[in-house]
Amino acid sequence: MQFIQKQNTEPVNWNHWFTVPPRRRTYDYHSDYSALTNLRSAKFYLIEEQNGLFAYCQQRITVEDASIEHVTPKEHNKELSTSYFNLVAVCKKNQVKDSFTGKLHCDSTRGSELLTSIIFYSSAKSTKVHTNRYFSAYATGEVVANPELDDNTKKQVEAFIDILNLNHDILKSKRAKDTLNGISDASKTSPNKLIFWRAQYDRILNNPKQPFREYLLVYIGSKIGIK
Ligand SMILES: [Zn+2]
Repeated sequence: MQFIQKQNTEPVNWNHWFTVPPRRRTYDYHSDYSALTNLRSAKFYLIEEQNGLFAYCQQRITVEDASIEHVTPKEHNKELSTSYFNLVAVCKKNQVKDSFTGKLHCDSTRGSELLTSIIFYSSAKSTKVHTNRYFSAYATGEVVANPELDDNTKKQVEAFIDILNLNHDILKSKRAKDTLNGISDASKTSPNKLIFWRAQYDRILNNPKQPFREYLLVYIGSKIGIK
């Protein structure tokens, strides 16, 4: 659910990063081994572009834990295999299984299932749309589809959450414990709750590197009447 601002054109070095000898642009980096040597540069670029947060679960990225993910899986569109507009950095390594379902999260649990295009957009034009209106957030760290959505959209958002397992127990606990609890505790000493939450909302809105940013904006937004 992380909002990612793609550029209008692919980065100047992109072709270079995905070019294999003899000067051939590759469209399949998984099977074209020599293209892998430049993948680290592409990974760095994507991480920077995503303000240091994983595309789906919004945790802070380390380059060691990141892998490059196809928003539209290769199985569905081979042409998009190395397209800048279709690639994002996600969490891959050091995941543990959800203690209830045994599932991982993000790319690691997704397989080649298609994600709805209404939430994550692969074209530069549509990434300008904010994602907030699709989700509701609870103090427990849980993320659900916004109940006010029409049935069809709601089903797509629910599938998105489910396919990426965004309510993995560790993600939920991190959202609640690591981020929200710290803020909530501070609210107890604040005489004017509305002003307090408004200030928190603005602070997070203005910090694109804040982990779980979208979750916090949805949660705090509902407290101060922003939807
Ligand atoms: Zn993740």
